[in-house]
Amino acid sequence: MKAVVWHGTGDIRLDDVDDPRIQEPTDALIRITRSAICGTDLHMVRGTMPDMAEGTVLGHEAVGVVEEVGDAVRGFTPGERVVVTSTIGCGTCSYCRAGYFAQCDTANPNGPAAGTCFFGGPKSTGPINGLQAEYARIPHAMTTLVRVPDSVSDDQAILLSDIFPTAWFGARLAEVGSGDTVLVLGAGVVGQFAIASAKRQGAGRVIVVDGISSRLDKARAQNAETVNFNDEDPVEIVRELTGGIGPDRVIEAVGVDAEKPGSRTDEQWKPGDAPRQALDWAVELVAKAGSVGIIGVYPPGFDDFPIGAAMNKNLTLRMGNCNHRRYLPQLLDLVLTGAVDPLTFITQHEKTTSAIDAYKSFDLREDGWLKTVLDVA
Ligand SMILES: [Zn+2]
Ligand SMILES: [Zn+2]
Repeated sequence: MKAVVWHGTGDIRLDDVDDPRIQEPTDALIRITRSAICGTDLHMVRGTMPDMAEGTVLGHEAVGVVEEVGDAVRGFTPGERVVVTSTIGCGTCSYCRAGYFAQCDTANPNGPAAGTCFFGGPKSTGPINGLQAEYARIPHAMTTLVRVPDSVSDDQAILLSDIFPTAWFGARLAEVGSGDTVLVLGAGVVGQFAIASAKRQGAGRVIVVDGISSRLDKARAQNAETVNFNDEDPVEIVRELTGGIGPDRVIEAVGVDAEKPGSRTDEQWKPGDAPRQALDWAVELVAKAGSVGIIGVYPPGFDDFPIGAAMNKNLTLRMGNCNHRRYLPQLLDLVLTGAVDPLTFITQHEKTTSAIDAYKSFDLREDGWLKTVLDVA
């Protein structure tokens, strides 16, 4: 089958690889119909998420059709349409049962202390071959797959694999409540869903900071108040917008690959030249005794956090990898009823054969690129 394979930093290829097969009785095999390229994949390609194994199939977002199920899998039969959760949890350990699917004790082959297990990630997360491929082996299928109703299309379902649950989780981490003023840092596709999630969780106002005007246009279409950090000082403007107090809650949807304000005009511009920029703004801007939810990706070993400033403002900080399975079923309902329309946020459709070029365009944060879906079938 065809798959997007990691060979080294900056070296990914569309390869012919062996078809996956069932390895455990709890596995399923799916034929993928939609996959997607995510900001997290770029961390692996750029090398800001180290420890990748050569030969790993990339990708952790997919919708597909069940091809085959292992002997222990109940509730799924071949032919059914499913969405895959990006993180893998067994569903039975104490962590999964408490809703911490991203800290499952048994899914990660490196052992219970290894942390999150997800598709297409570094060695420390499995590695489990990813979903930018024609077929995939799905471990712990009963918790990793969620059936998609006929009335929800593949394109509507694909952003439920990772993006929407991650954003929803971010708003939960930030403790968004009724009437709160919420600041979302980053207006990429997770930031866009963070706006939608904050509003659904009760936010009174949502302010969004990003450096790309097309992304801010999308945010304004959701009635968010926008600040372009390449045109004005976000610290000054957000303070002004909040009467000098700052937002009650901040959702950090940027991560380690943040760009330095104003650097986009430099010829040497590259993502990640200001790796703690979003954390600094979050802590500096949030109101005293406010709370910050961090869903932007930071790799193990990144230990650069403004803890002193946070301490002296009595902040609540919560963070982590999304427990996708915990939120996916309820978010599927929001899509099913039309309350949230994921199609608004898909800006690019590409064939798998163009995947490598699509990665390059996304990596450069070309204006207008928000979410690239790979039409596998
Ligand atoms: Zn993702
Ligand atoms: Zn578990």
